[in-house]
Amino acid sequence: MASAYSRPSHRRSLRRRRTLVVSAAAVAAAVGVGVLVVNANAGPVDLYHQVLPAKDGWAAAGSGTTGGTKADAAHTFTVSTRAQLVKALGSATDTAPRIIKIKGMINANSNASGKKLTCADYASGTGYSLSAYLKAFHPATYGKKAPKGPQETARKAAAVKQKKNIVFRVPSNTTIVGVPGTKAGILGGSVLVQNVKNVIMRNLTFADTRDCFPQWDPTDGSSGEWNSNYDSVSLRGATNVWADHNTFTDAPTFDKTQATHFGRKYQVHDGALDITNGSDLVTVERNRFLNHDKTMLIGSSDTDSKGKLRVTIHHNVWKGIGQRAPLARIGRIHLYNNVYDTTTVNGYASRYSIDSRAKAQVVAERNVWKIPAGAKAARLLSGDGTGSVAGTGNLVNGKATDIVAAYNAANSSKKLKTTANWKPTLTSGLQASVRNLLTDLTSTTGAGTLS
Ligand code: CA
Ligand code: CA
Repeated sequence: MASAYSRPSHRRSLRRRRTLVVSAAAVAAAVGVGVLVVNANAGPVDLYHQVLPAKDGWAAAGSGTTGGTKADAAHTFTVSTRAQLVKALGSATDTAPRIIKIKGMINANSNASGKKLTCADYASGTGYSLSAYLKAFHPATYGKKAPKGPQETARKAAAVKQKKNIVFRVPSNTTIVGVPGTKAGILGGSVLVQNVKNVIMRNLTFADTRDCFPQWDPTDGSSGEWNSNYDSVSLRGATNVWADHNTFTDAPTFDKTQATHFGRKYQVHDGALDITNGSDLVTVERNRFLNHDKTMLIGSSDTDSKGKLRVTIHHNVWKGIGQRAPLARIGRIHLYNNVYDTTTVNGYASRYSIDSRAKAQVVAERNVWKIPAGAKAARLLSGDGTGSVAGTGNLVNGKATDIVAAYNAANSSKKLKTTANWKPTLTSGLQASVRNLLTDLTSTTGAGTLS
């Protein structure tokens, strides 16, 4: 089929899918463009009130994912500043359904009156300076032990100030949606979905979530590492979450522009979308993950909650990604119809795409990889020897490829297990044919494609 026809047919299928979900009584009709549907009783179901369709991945399990769709007028907000967003989010313990529409990009590093804050503003009054920190903890003079002393105390104090500003806690039963028309989302912020349930995030751009105060850890790896806090979105102990049509990117601060200190990259970014600490029933759908190193962590350690960490990841684009797309531990993870472009972009070179470890049960089927000339399919996966990657129908540069066999043939130890102990059933929209996926997902993923 010519690619010119791909998008309309995709739109039709989306429309059909939403229609089924609205309600049994709904009278569906295509209204204008996009995915509007008509409910006989309630009128058009707009972007803000749409819920996760039935069977659309793990987030459809349990009580399903409806976010704040039942919000009353008092809990429906349109925000375009940091202060308004904080107010709209309310308290993490207030579980009244709420809908938050974000209009434009909100700079998380700004104060109550909207003034932009710099790293120096947070450091002010703490005594912290990077040059003093580097002098205090240089391995040649300080040795290979954890930083301790006035500069580490000052770094922590400055970090607390930044954290207060950039972390946004989301309560249960919340929908956050970017208002179509202009780029909408959060610059430099970290959305924390912790020990809550039923959250929807759609049509949002999460850009350059950045730690002003990375910590030196001389014992991380053989040469030490600079470690940062703050993922663009952190799910910790979160249940029933739908992340749909968002864009995650480090832009405009690419890692390659960062300095090297103590021989290691001064890493200011952490994860893009991390799913840890017993999070469960998550659907990650039609997002664009761009320009980032450690992109998606599922399970924060080999002992993160057994029986949870069930995540579906489908129809996402991963481009300019270093690693962790995702790194999966323990859980039952279904990856289907994703596009991975491992071409180096903006200095972000791919180390691997999917890592399955700590007995993770990954099913990866009908995904598409575009890899540069000379790159090897064996390099798409990684593991610790206990994780599984099952699934068939994956394409590498247009060719049907058994990616697990390729990985296992190239590795004499830590081989991936080839069978999973479960069979995905929540597979709405799973496409058997993925020949046109690379083109189709260009215009149907990420923020800015919903109307
Ligand atoms: Ca980190
Ligand atoms: Ca993280």
